[in-house]
Amino acid sequence: MNADIAQQNRSQAQTLIDALSTPVLSHFIDGQNYLRQDGATISNRSPVDDTELNQTAQGNEADVATASLSSEKAFESWRQWPAEKRRDVLHAIADRIEANAESIALMETADTGQPLRFTGKTATRGAENFRYFADLCTRAADGHSYPTPTHLNYTMREPIGPVGAITPWNMPFMLATWKIAPALAAGCTVVHKPAEWSPLTATLLAKIAFEAGLPAGVLNTVQGLGNEAGSALTQDPRIKAIAFVGGTQTGSRIMAQGAPSLKRVHFELGGKSPVVVFDDADLDRAVDAVAFMIFSLNGQRCNAGSRLLVQRSIHDQFVERLIQRAQKICVGNPFDPATEVGPLIHSKQLTKVKEHCFNAVQAGATMHCGGVNALSAHLPAAGNWFAPAIVSGVTPAMDIVQQEVFGPVLAVLPFDDEAHALALANDSRYGLSTYLWTGNVGRAHRLARSFQSGMVWVNTEIARNLSTPFGGMKDSGIGRDGGDWSFDFYMETRNVCIALDGHAIPQIGKL
Ligand code: NAD
Repeated sequence: MNADIAQQNRSQAQTLIDALSTPVLSHFIDGQNYLRQDGATISNRSPVDDTELNQTAQGNEADVATASLSSEKAFESWRQWPAEKRRDVLHAIADRIEANAESIALMETADTGQPLRFTGKTATRGAENFRYFADLCTRAADGHSYPTPTHLNYTMREPIGPVGAITPWNMPFMLATWKIAPALAAGCTVVHKPAEWSPLTATLLAKIAFEAGLPAGVLNTVQGLGNEAGSALTQDPRIKAIAFVGGTQTGSRIMAQGAPSLKRVHFELGGKSPVVVFDDADLDRAVDAVAFMIFSLNGQRCNAGSRLLVQRSIHDQFVERLIQRAQKICVGNPFDPATEVGPLIHSKQLTKVKEHCFNAVQAGATMHCGGVNALSAHLPAAGNWFAPAIVSGVTPAMDIVQQEVFGPVLAVLPFDDEAHALALANDSRYGLSTYLWTGNVGRAHRLARSFQSGMVWVNTEIARNLSTPFGGMKDSGIGRDGGDWSFDFYMETRNVCIALDGHAIPQIGKL
């Protein structure tokens, strides 16, 4: 651990935050900083020690209306831009994101408590999202043709209009770019409402995009609370679709709020993804992957492998290896490059994680490591610290197995055979990812067909390829992101049917 480096990084982050918040972190609408008229703000606090990082504008219905109107106006010209020109400006945004990589990492760490070792890659991931969709711009409007002897049908696509993007706090910058880049590539304009617990990099992104040449109004950012700014955005009649990443309950609310104006919705929601480990797996690699997928990013990741299902024959030794690994994970100041797990984002999140573990233990489970008792005495008392925890002796019905904890907590269940593993894996309201570890290729293919999840990862941690469909089944989401799937959401498809000569038109009234 290096306290001096951590302190330097933190001071540098605060200097950047102060420069961005002049004096308040504002919305960015129509190419300008914009504040709510009555000046209402939200206090944004540090997960490390609860000191105030900045004040953020608290957007209201009027602010959202201003942003939506601006996006509606900008849409008329943005949609007409030649695809090559759109491509070039998206690449310019990616260049500028990369040039700001250090600022983005420092601000993201200050805002979220995610260790610098992870936020250091945020700009690269965000820029990749822009570059990938930039290169698809020229194909976004493409359609298909369906010729028959009598008719030719062909399809074409056009952008749906101004869209709303509502994003969560766990990976704020990356997730914002993930929604915004394909929408802009499709020719849509965007009003973005980031999470109130992690507002900083959203305003920064809007400024970066504008400075890179994105016309005013094409990307507007409105800060604020979900039940105020977020709710107004989902109800604004100018907004044609809502791309939402966040909790399942919120998704359900957004669907209801958007119903009167018939909003198209795309939902990336919660998860309780199982990791299924058979005794024929490469257990060294499996230990690495299991620990990474639940403890990296402070366990605050939608795709966390939070339910470990392990074959009974190897249960005890595998769990023991994981406990040893978890105990060695470096929990501390997220500004220290050595830190692997930082504080949780908010005291409310900490309370939720603590309660889940407490309730499980009360119900008879065993917490082998982690929690608040395993922390170093040097950590600031007001921070939201929670060391990586492994809980076994649980039953399938317990909350800790069924509910999304969204923290560094792994619940472990043994299974006997393939059928038992499959039943346990699918015994969930969620269906985002399943991770499977086995050396048997036939079993891998067989199970991959039967898991109830949008994504199945075999013998690997999550390894994202932007061309593949990303999304969940059941309560984990509606729709898929990635490649052409993204364009299907942000665009309307028109079919044109043309008759060829000689086609006989049915006749009536000629008798
Ligand atoms: P959340 O649902 O509380 O908030 C997400 C966003 O929705 C925030 O911007 C919030 O202000 C806004 N919001 C809240 N109420 C709203 C309303 N009534 N109308 C409109 N907007 C509203 O989620 P969170 O706690 O910020 O994030 C954690 C959740 O996000 C977890 O469940 C996690 O699994 C999920 N998540 C899913 C994915 C995925 O790809 N499936 C990725 C990341 C996070």
